[in-house]
Amino acid sequence: MLVTLTSAHAQPRIGAWLTRQGLGARPMLGGRGLLLSDPWIPHTVREALLADPEVESLEDTTEYPRRVMRQDDRAVAFDLDLGRAPVIAGPCSIESREMAFQAAEFVKSLGLNWVRGGTDKTRTRPGDFQGAGLQAAQWLKEAADAHGLRCVTEVTDSPEAEAIGELVDLIQVGARHMHSPRHLQRLGRMGKPVLLKRGLVATPEEWLWAAEYLLEAGAPSVLFCERGIRTASPLKRFTLDLGTVPFIRAMTHSPILVDPSHAAGTSPYVAPLAKAAIAAGAHGVIVECHPDPARACSDKLQALDYPAMTALVDDLARLWALTQDAPPRALPPLGGGATPGDQAGRLESAGAR
Ligand code: PEP
Ligand code: MN
Repeated sequence: MLVTLTSAHAQPRIGAWLTRQGLGARPMLGGRGLLLSDPWIPHTVREALLADPEVESLEDTTEYPRRVMRQDDRAVAFDLDLGRAPVIAGPCSIESREMAFQAAEFVKSLGLNWVRGGTDKTRTRPGDFQGAGLQAAQWLKEAADAHGLRCVTEVTDSPEAEAIGELVDLIQVGARHMHSPRHLQRLGRMGKPVLLKRGLVATPEEWLWAAEYLLEAGAPSVLFCERGIRTASPLKRFTLDLGTVPFIRAMTHSPILVDPSHAAGTSPYVAPLAKAAIAAGAHGVIVECHPDPARACSDKLQALDYPAMTALVDDLARLWALTQDAPPRALPPLGGGATPGDQAGRLESAGAR
């Protein structure tokens, strides 16, 4: 990224400010330019630079996922409208039509707007329940419609992928598929918003590039979902990497959701992780629940029963009220004023030029 200044006089001030943001900048163009070594610039930094009267232009000099990180990426943002609490809830798998309706009714009773449910499952073992496929997606859609809910399901690389994707409001990319470019392109071409789970060992940068594949292929928006990565954690399945919550918020305008269920692996760990995710600034959590977890066809150990799910939704509604709409942490001013008031005044007047 090359920052061109209106005059070399601004270089010490803006250079020092960039250093305070943790960004290395090398003087160029006889002092009128600053070359940033890192293309991964938080949009708050980008916007503050653009609003500075002594910044003439910003120019991309390196390859980075431009669609997902672009300046005007509010265009690919997505309004989730989750309801009373920041939660998408539902079973791991839609096991029957009756169960789909029961799940939708329960989710509606919690004051939520979105129901989840696996239809074509990506199981580790071939002998395990693989999901009821398109039939299950039809049950999910029917049940969601009956209760005025929106629905999300994973779409795999099965021959039924397009038919399943057509039925749901949000297409989920499973963690095991994040690293598959052809699959991402196929889902992107469906032209629907996509919920992109982080791969089991994916770096945050690889995750952004995966989002780029989806947007490039035609997805109108991408929502990120942190679901835990592989480390030596005492949790049953994965380590929930909540550091990606502020990272995605800083780098994109897309929502970042967190799935505490697949990280936890067992139900007692789910609620604490869900609360931590909302406290960290996640736009929502996706939580698995089941009317009778012991009888669930998949992921029975991590499913919350309905009383536990109800209690969690109540807690998250309260926690959300404390955290939602929190503006991104204010940046220190580019120079001069030290108080937030000074900064607001400076950025406002700069923005008005
Ligand atoms: C799921 O959400 O049902 C699921 C299988 O998740 P993941 O792809 O994160 O394992
Ligand atoms: Mn599951």
